[in-house]
Amino acid sequence: MSDKNKDRTFLIGLSKGEDLIKEITNEVQKRNIEKGIIQAIGAVSQAKIGYYDQKNKEYLYTEFKQHLEIVNCMGNISILEGEPMVHAHIALADKSGKTYGGHLAEGTKIFAAELFIQEISGQKLIRRYEKDRGLTLW
Ligand code: ZN
Repeated sequence: MSDKNKDRTFLIGLSKGEDLIKEITNEVQKRNIEKGIIQAIGAVSQAKIGYYDQKNKEYLYTEFKQHLEIVNCMGNISILEGEPMVHAHIALADKSGKTYGGHLAEGTKIFAAELFIQEISGQKLIRRYEKDRGLTLW
């Protein structure tokens, strides 16, 4: 059995053209990281971010067909349906410095991204669907 008290950290350069949330999830899953936090900076060639409509319990998405800076992307790693799952939010800036932000969705394409992963040992965090809020939560 591996030493679960020794938390690992990683700095990883992600590939151009790949989907940001899919790549982060891939890097997490291939290292078997079940709990932790992630951060990333870099730039994207297009983006899709979500806003959760709390009344109607659904995500509303906005797509950006433009080049944007990743001012900050941060998130966490926990377990959903037996698999490590990354939940991340992102702040993106345009040429003038105006920022947009929200829930990081598939459809955000990497131009360049530097990913930091911090593993956290101990008991797993399990996501379960909560009907009242319409989300999978801890
Ligand atoms: Zn979110």
